Amino acid sequence: MAVNTNAKSNKQAGRYEGGRQPAALVDYHVHSQFSPDGRSTIDEYCERAVALGLSEICFTDHFDFEPRGGHWYGFLDYERYTEAISRAEARWRGTLAVRKGVELDFQSHYGNQVRDFLAGKEFDFVLGSIHWVDSLSVDSELYDGRSMEEAYGRYFEEAYGAAKTGLYDVIAHLDYIKRYASQVYGEFDFSQFHDQIEAILKVMVENGTGLEINTSGLRGELGETLPGPGIVRLYRELGGELVTVGSDAHCAEHLGSGITEALALLRAVGFDYVAVFHERKPRLLKIEALQRGICARM
Ligand SMILES: [Zn+2]
Ligand SMILES: [Zn+2]
Repeated sequence: MAVNTNAKSNKQAGRYEGGRQPAALVDYHVHSQFSPDGRSTIDEYCERAVALGLSEICFTDHFDFEPRGGHWYGFLDYERYTEAISRAEARWRGTLAVRKGVELDFQSHYGNQVRDFLAGKEFDFVLGSIHWVDSLSVDSELYDGRSMEEAYGRYFEEAYGAAKTGLYDVIAHLDYIKRYASQVYGEFDFSQFHDQIEAILKVMVENGTGLEINTSGLRGELGETLPGPGIVRLYRELGGELVTVGSDAHCAEHLGSGITEALALLRAVGFDYVAVFHERKPRLLKIEALQRGICARM
C-alpha cells in the first residue's frame, strides 16, 4: 500500500489515495513548448521518459498573470494543451503515466485572477511559484535600490500569501530568489529568514500544501536543490509530509536530472514518501521502493 498510515492524524492525510506504487522515478516539474521557454515537445519528453524508465511525468507549463512579462503573459493555450496531453496520455497508457499540471505564478495583487483561471479548468497538479514581486521580476528587477532584507523579505511575504490561498497543491522552488539575489548580496543564508520561512511552512502544513524539491539548482552554480536541505528539513520537523520532486526541465535532456539526489535528500531528512497527483489528489510512493527500482535497473 502506498498510504502513509503513520500520518492518519495529520490534516494532510485526509487527501491521500491508496494504490499501486510503481518502482520507477517520477518527474513533477516539466516545461514543454506550451511554455514560452520550453524547447522540447510533449512527445519528445515522453519518449525520453520511457527511455529513462520513468513511470510518471507531469507537465507543468507556465501561466503568468504579470502583463509586464510581455509574451509570457497568458501564453498557455489551455485547450490545445489539454488536447496534447490527452493524446500523449492515451499513447503511453500502460507504459508511462502522463499528467496535466500547470505552474501558476502568484502575486498578491493578482490573487483573484489565479482563482478565476483555475475555475472550470481541469488539472492533475497545480504548482505555485513566485517569479514576480510588486510587478518586478525576481530574476533581475527586484534588487534595484533594495537592501537584501527588503528584497528577500518581500519575496517571502509573497510566498506566504501564495501558501495562504490554499489554491496550490504544491509550492515550487520556495527559495527561488536565492538563484538571483545571491549574485547581488552574496550567498543565501536561510537562517537569516528563518522565522519568515517557518511561518510559510506552517501555513503549508495547515493547508495541506506540499513542498517541491526542485533539482534545477543541482545543474547550475548553486549546487543545491530549491529549496535547500535546511528548509526541507524544517518542513519535515513542522509536520510536513507532502513533497514532490521535479527537474524543472525546459528541454528533454534535463528530464529526470537530479531526481535520485532529491530522493536521497528526502530520506536523509526523514521523509519516507514522495507524492504524485491525479485530478489534484495526491498519492504517496514509497521512496525506498523507487530507490530499489533504480538499483535494479543499474
Ligand atoms: Zn518556476
Ligand atoms: Zn518551472
